Amino acid sequence: MRSQNRASYRLLDGLLARARQAGNEEAGDVLDGDGAPLPPARVAAQIGIGSRDAIAGRVVGLTAGDKQIQWVSLDVFPASTLGAMLDGTVIVASDVTEQRVRSKRLEVALKIFQVATQGFFLLDQDGRIIAANEASERITGYVEAELTGLSPLSFCVPDMRAALQDAVEQSLRASGAWEGEFTAQQKTGASYRLWCSLTAFQNPVGEIEYSIATISDITEKWAAQERISFLVNFDPLTELPNRGMLDGWMDFATAEARRRQGRLAVLFVDLDNFKWVNDSLGHHVGDLLLIEVARRVKLVVRESDIVVRQGGDEFIVALQGLVDGREASRVAEKLLASFGQPVVIDGHRLHVGASIGISIFPEDGGDKDELLKNADAAMYEAKRAGRGQYAFYSPILNAQAVSYAKLAAALRTAVMRGAFDLVFQPQVDARTRRITGLEALIRAQDPELGPPSVFIPVAERTGLISDLGEWVIVAACRQIRQWLDMGFEPPKMAINVSSLQLRSQSLTKTIGEAVVSSRIPHRSLEIEITETLLMERLDEAREALAWLRQHGIVVAIDDFGTGYSSLAYLQSLPIDRLKIDGSFVRELGNGGGGVVARAILSLAKSLSLEVVAEGVETEAQAELLVELGCGYFQGYLFGRPITADEVPEFCGWGGSRAP
Ligand code: C2E
Ligand code: CA
Ligand code: CA
Repeated sequence: MRSQNRASYRLLDGLLARARQAGNEEAGDVLDGDGAPLPPARVAAQIGIGSRDAIAGRVVGLTAGDKQIQWVSLDVFPASTLGAMLDGTVIVASDVTEQRVRSKRLEVALKIFQVATQGFFLLDQDGRIIAANEASERITGYVEAELTGLSPLSFCVPDMRAALQDAVEQSLRASGAWEGEFTAQQKTGASYRLWCSLTAFQNPVGEIEYSIATISDITEKWAAQERISFLVNFDPLTELPNRGMLDGWMDFATAEARRRQGRLAVLFVDLDNFKWVNDSLGHHVGDLLLIEVARRVKLVVRESDIVVRQGGDEFIVALQGLVDGREASRVAEKLLASFGQPVVIDGHRLHVGASIGISIFPEDGGDKDELLKNADAAMYEAKRAGRGQYAFYSPILNAQAVSYAKLAAALRTAVMRGAFDLVFQPQVDARTRRITGLEALIRAQDPELGPPSVFIPVAERTGLISDLGEWVIVAACRQIRQWLDMGFEPPKMAINVSSLQLRSQSLTKTIGEAVVSSRIPHRSLEIEITETLLMERLDEAREALAWLRQHGIVVAIDDFGTGYSSLAYLQSLPIDRLKIDGSFVRELGNGGGGVVARAILSLAKSLSLEVVAEGVETEAQAELLVELGCGYFQGYLFGRPITADEVPEFCGWGGSRAP
């Protein structure tokens, strides 16, 4: 008996000892080559004792408690095979535990290689595929035979391949590994996103001997990421860049303009009445309208400019490389003209008006925040000035700064002297055309103050509005008293109230006192409050409105449709009537279809509110409005504002007698 070393000798010794317990039939601690325990009776045969033929490389395992199984390879030579001189058997035993574990691992590794959902390639020293697993065939769309000889990088789309190759080579030289992703092409030509990791194995001299590549198809994950990064930077509806992108663009463009001493323009574009399209025709139509608007804006500007959806119906256009502001006004004009073309969506012919505010770098602001803020302010001025217009930030404010101080001074004097008059415009029943009310409208005696649309905003900004408002209420109540004293029975008198007057208790106190001192019933009054301003001070307004309602004073929302009242608020407020702004009445029978007027009327109907249409100038408008269910009219068609003296005759009170 020979053994290759001392350890194997011990192994063999142990084996033989067990082989001698031949009577024992229980499973023992010797295993056959497949790891199955051998009963001691069979150990000797397994080892090859008594064999007549030589046996090479028979493997048996030896367990010893919970220690690792030791594997022994046995070469057995019976005496007969060696020559007659020898008696017995020569067994050469060697410990193959390590090899056995390694080959087992290799077997498992090969299995993993085959069944893995990840693709694997084994690459030769030149990076060409030698072996590929099933997953890699699935991912690339090629079979193993086709893959053999290719480089994994050859799947990359052609225009990126050279750059990828460079990056990979560099990384392999530096660290022996590379990991990254690229857009690849399948055999069918379909493109997909491939993640790939390459690890090179070097021989002792430092040359690459072989490499392993792992690939996986990350198209789905990648598309989701792309989508997220798109969502971060773009507006999903219009696919225009969003505010975040604008910020970056503006930082760059202002720096560039400063360096070149050039100019930038920021145009703040706000659609007029978009809310109405949305509310009355549905969000689907609103969305399509926004997409169309975005398309038109993009057609007007240059490639080097940026168009951004700021949110809702607001867009920002930033222009660079301007010489002066005139170019910005040309763009604004083009935009308004392109909006002027009706949009047909779902059979609805829509007119999209817009108001545009413009600020210029560097005159109107040194950075993006200032420029945007001022363009926004200019946009509000454009809206105030009557929609469908554009306005520059500086000239407005400059012009205003001059005239504003003058106006404010003249106004203060006029308020102190009570140098105003009231004129009255009739409101009529839409069917009978009989006078149902009179709206009191203020006139300044000083022609320098201009019409109320000019001086009322000044009064609001200077705080003169509370004194002025008080004058109007007192004068209106006195006028009613005067007519009553003359033996007439005037209809309700509508008084315009600034929402600033709704603050504190001053409005209700003023009305209460004026009514008492003129000895007229509360219910001879109606109060008109502008929609926009009301919504801004809703909580302050609520209490005053409740007081008015309690005292039988009708409350009307003025200029309805121009602001952004939410339906929920409207429902929760004690309101009796809506006055449709004249601008929407003008659209009626004018090809525009009067989307807004229609929407207001149906809204009012659902809330059981009365509707007064303002600015009715033609019979055609009146007829359409009656058809749409409008109850009351006011406008030049039925009467311009007239003086108190003219009222009795105009109203046909001739039958009644003055004392
Ligand atoms: P408002 O309350 O919407 O008043 C209606 C305005 O439209 C009036 O202008 C009236 O003259 C004008 N108008 C009436 N019918 C027609 C028409 O058929 N066509 C056209 N184109 N216009 C028509 P006015 O008197 O210049 O008043 C302008 C605004 O000034 C008023 O608009 C109101 O907001 C404000 N205002 C007038 N008087 C007072 C007041 O006493 N107090 C307050 N706070 N604001 C007032
Ligand atoms: Ca009014
Ligand atoms: Ca109005």
